[in-house]
Parts: sequence; structure tokens; C-alpha cells
Amino acid sequence: MTQIVGKLALVGLGLIGSSIAWAAKRANSAGEIVGTARSPETRARASELGFCDRIVETAAEAAEDADLVIVCVPVGACGAVTAEIAPVLKPGAIVSDVGSTKRSVIDAMASHVPEHAHFIPGHPLAGTEHSGPDAGFAELYDNRWCLLTPVGTPQAEALDLLTRFWESLGANVESMDPDHHDLVVAVTSHVPHAIAYTMCGVADDLRRVTDREVVQFSAAGFRDFTRIAASDPTMWRDVFLNNKDATIEILGRFVEELMSLQRAIRLGDGDHLHEYFTRTRAIRRSIIEAGQDTSAPNFGRSAGES
Ligand code: NAP
Repeated sequence: MTQIVGKLALVGLGLIGSSIAWAAKRANSAGEIVGTARSPETRARASELGFCDRIVETAAEAAEDADLVIVCVPVGACGAVTAEIAPVLKPGAIVSDVGSTKRSVIDAMASHVPEHAHFIPGHPLAGTEHSGPDAGFAELYDNRWCLLTPVGTPQAEALDLLTRFWESLGANVESMDPDHHDLVVAVTSHVPHAIAYTMCGVADDLRRVTDREVVQFSAAGFRDFTRIAASDPTMWRDVFLNNKDATIEILGRFVEELMSLQRAIRLGDGDHLHEYFTRTRAIRRSIIEAGQDTSAPNFGRSAGES
């Protein structure tokens, strides 16, 4: 594949940043990949793993002369990082991010980006429950969506370049209004995580009563919740603090649906339950038809696999 950017700077080298580097290397999308992370431990580990051409100590050092800077830190830290890199951004540089919330990240970053640079926020809808530089892999973005949420009127050339960059990593790219983005991901990701965290909390409470049986006999439904609830606590704390309105709106609707389900169970209303589960099953089918998951039983895991 042909090179899309000259110097790519990645600030933050966890799951998302390191996967961008691996995928960019695989596609040869950047002339040089320079990375940095907050801690010396992560920088040292990133050097050992070799997904960047160069590891530097500070965000400003990484961003200097970069054509594209992608900020890959928890959403609560995006503003401070942008303030640090702002003075060294070259004319025409593109600044983007990968944060899971968009309105709050835009509020935190946009005012720091100088007029001679382009700010185009982004969010790849791809991830795992693992974090840190060892968690990354080149295939993470293959056939996943990356949503760009341009603010104002970004130059068409900059938007086109960022689109082509993400496509080179394997992603499908779509532009979306930031507030709409926040509502969509509250439904598809943030509230499901809140529910998984809560279900694991309930089970943990119960475990004290049943003495380890919840863990020992854990069935697929609960195990799937535990995978989601194992996600990084810092990242998810920041997601909920930064997508408060949309999360509360969708959680409210969730509680209403749950109450109606509880009522049907209490009243023994089998027709209601059957009709409801038939409707929800169709959502799973449409996700598989859209190529966003496998139809293999138990997500393709073998029976003994956890
Ligand atoms: P991660 O694996 O935990 O890596 C986070 C990186 O950010 C690390 O390099 C860390 O540095 C650095 N960092 C943490 N706090 C910082 C701070 N206060 N200031 C500067 N750097 C800091 O996280 P991730 O999963 O890659 O997530 C990164 C971003 O991607 C987040 O904004 C998240 O919302 C978004 N995202 C995540 C997923 C997912 O499923 N994980 C999916 C899509 C988008 P050290 O290692 O040196 O501490």
C-alpha cells in the first residue's frame, strides 16, 4: 500500500495507540511512526515491542514536525496533551484522537489547536478488555468502524487524508455529528458496560453468600459480562464522567424496559416475554449480517474455553 502520511505521532501507547502503530506498519501507511507514553515503563516496553520507529520522552517531542498526531490517552487527559503539543504543531498538521466520547473531548481539545493546524476528532469502534502496549495487534481495526466527528468545516483535504489513513488500517470510516455519536455509543457500548459492571457487582455480592459458586459454575451469559467488566477502570471512569447526559438518558430507558420485563415475569406473562425475546433476537441477526460479529456458537469459543 502507498504511504499516506510522512511523520505519524502517537501520544499514548496502550491498546489503541499500539494497534494503530502495528496496523500502520502492516500497511506501510506512514513514512515514520514516532510514539510516546507518560511512563518510562510503557516507553521502554514499546521500544522492546518495536511497533514504532522511534520512541521519544514527551508528547511535544513526538508532535514536532508531525503530519498527523493521534492522541490515544484516556478522554480525561486529552485536553492537557493537546495543550502540550499545540506550540510545536507545524502548519497543516492534523490533530486527531481516539476517545470514546466526542463532545467532551472536543470541548477539551479544540481551543488548544492553533489555526494553522486541522483538528478532526475520531473514535475507532474496536477494542478488547486488555490494555497497555502489549495488548495491541495489527488486525484490531480490520472491518471495524472508525467514526470521525469533524467540527466546523475542516479542509476537505485533511478529512480525506485522515479517512484514507484509517482505511489503510483496515477500518470503514464514516463522519457523524459529535452529539449524535455520544448517544449512539451510549446505546452500543457505554450502557452495556455499565450493566456488565453492575451484574458483576451483584454476582460478587452474591458470591459472599454462595461461597465461590458464582465463579465456579459461571455460565456463558455471566462470563460474557465478566469479560466486558474487566475493561480498564481509568478509561471507563473517564467515559462515564465525559458522556454523562447520553448515558443517563439511555440508562433511564434501560431501567424502564427492565421494570416492564420484571412485571411480565411476576405476572407470568409468557406471551410478552416470547414477543420481547423474538424482537431482541433480530438485533443479534442484524449485527451478524452487517459482518460485525460471528454466527459461530458462543462467539466461536470451544465449549471448554472461558
Ligand atoms: P490503555 O491501553 O490504558 O493506554 C492508555 C495510554 O494513555 C497509555 O499509554 C498511558 O500511559 C496513557 N495515559 C494514561 N493516562 C494518561 C494521562 N493522564 N496523561 C497522559 N497519558 C496518559 O488505553 P486504550 O484502551 O488504548 O485507550 C486509549 C483511548 O482510546 C481512550 O481515550 C479510550 O476512550 C479510547 N478507546 C478505547 C477502546 C478500548 O476498547 N480500549 C476502544 C476505542 C477507543 P502509561 O502507560 O505510561 O500510563
